Amino acid sequence: MLSMTPKELKERTALRINPCKTCQPVGAIYCALGVHKCMPHSHGSQGCVSFHRMFLTRHFKDPAIASTSSFTEGASVFGGRTNIETAVKNVFDIYDPDIIAVHTTCLSETIGDDINSFIQDMTIPEGKLVVHTNTPSYVGSHINGFYNMMCGFIKYLSRKTGKSNGKIAIFPGFVNPGDMREMKRIASLLKAPFIMFPDTSGVMDAPMTGHYEMYPKGGTKIEEIAALGDCEKVIALGEITSEEPAALLEKQCKVPYELLPLPIGISATDEFVTALSKFSKCEVPYELEEERGQLIDIMLDAHQYYYKKSVAIYGDPDTVLGITSLVLEMGMIPKYVITGTPKEDFTRKAEELFARYSVEGCKAKASADLFELHQWIKNEKVDLLIGGTHGKTIARAEDIPLVRAGFPIIDRYVHSYMPIVGYKGAMRLVEMISNALMDRMDRDCADEDLEIVM
Ligand code: SF4
Repeated sequence: MLSMTPKELKERTALRINPCKTCQPVGAIYCALGVHKCMPHSHGSQGCVSFHRMFLTRHFKDPAIASTSSFTEGASVFGGRTNIETAVKNVFDIYDPDIIAVHTTCLSETIGDDINSFIQDMTIPEGKLVVHTNTPSYVGSHINGFYNMMCGFIKYLSRKTGKSNGKIAIFPGFVNPGDMREMKRIASLLKAPFIMFPDTSGVMDAPMTGHYEMYPKGGTKIEEIAALGDCEKVIALGEITSEEPAALLEKQCKVPYELLPLPIGISATDEFVTALSKFSKCEVPYELEEERGQLIDIMLDAHQYYYKKSVAIYGDPDTVLGITSLVLEMGMIPKYVITGTPKEDFTRKAEELFARYSVEGCKAKASADLFELHQWIKNEKVDLLIGGTHGKTIARAEDIPLVRAGFPIIDRYVHSYMPIVGYKGAMRLVEMISNALMDRMDRDCADEDLEIVM
């Protein structure tokens, strides 16, 4: 790969190479899969939804269902009203979901289809629902698609009845089902009655039963989404991913929210635990105290392997910020921190973390891509990479160990079942980071021994 000067890098604004994000509908489908008996529906051509389903299936290793309006040339010219009407009828007739969650694609956005008016005019079977959101993929990323779809559900379904249900709503952010399970376990330990929305646990990590179930047991129920409007409060996890839906629910139903970072690492998990404990007025149980203590013990035991090691972290904004916070707690240097999602808040928050731990010479950037990260690494190498599968070409080219964490991970298994949030999740990250660095040290020592023998 050719090296580019900083000036050349600065000038590249219109092109992304290996972009560190994917398109909005991928996030919209993932959100809709976290709703029980919901069929995500892509208003566009078949090619789009094939790609989105493939992308999700490769990460979760479980089928990601979604239907399509199947645009052809005619729909592209005259609009997709007839297509979506036929599609909705067929989907209810054949696949029998309780709700269809429609999102748009680049094509339907460009021709300007008014999905809301299509939905108002179509015949929907009694007891069934259709909601929608707009996900033009030439702006934002799958993270925007995820929270736009959350907003779509809230807009159509959440209502305030005036009678509180005494629950706290937890918006988990764009995380794996294993992470959602861990967040729910922590909430249960703190005896906080909650509604998690969306919730892909039990859907994208459903057990093998010997027969295919189109709608597994998991997912937030429609009545729970409606009841979000009667919750006492929202804990919105992931300051970049969860703020818009939380703000919408506040505006629509006057439910206040507390915006917190994803609970990755000690301090962010402490914040999550404290917020739940304040809400439920339940003291932090020994089980959680013990896990926290174990995490610190592990960090101390292995610190000589990672202390002051430099690391490049890439991926989704809240996940990257969470991992950055953890590696700073470990005494590592997060030299390069990037996301492909265009949110400038990301850069500011990363820089605040650098300042909090007084580390210097670290760079953070939103709307960045892996090509640019590779250039930075060529100019000044790091000891470790943390991120999804697409960074492995950098790892291979520069001979740097890679810890796979975040989204997408398409060349490994089990990751989506294993949390990286909470104290347990942090233990797993510390284990993976230490092992990767120790493996590298072992290999370097073996190479040196070989040289001496020769
Ligand atoms: S055309 Fe747009 S929506 Fe379809 S796959 Fe490409 S970026 Fe995604």
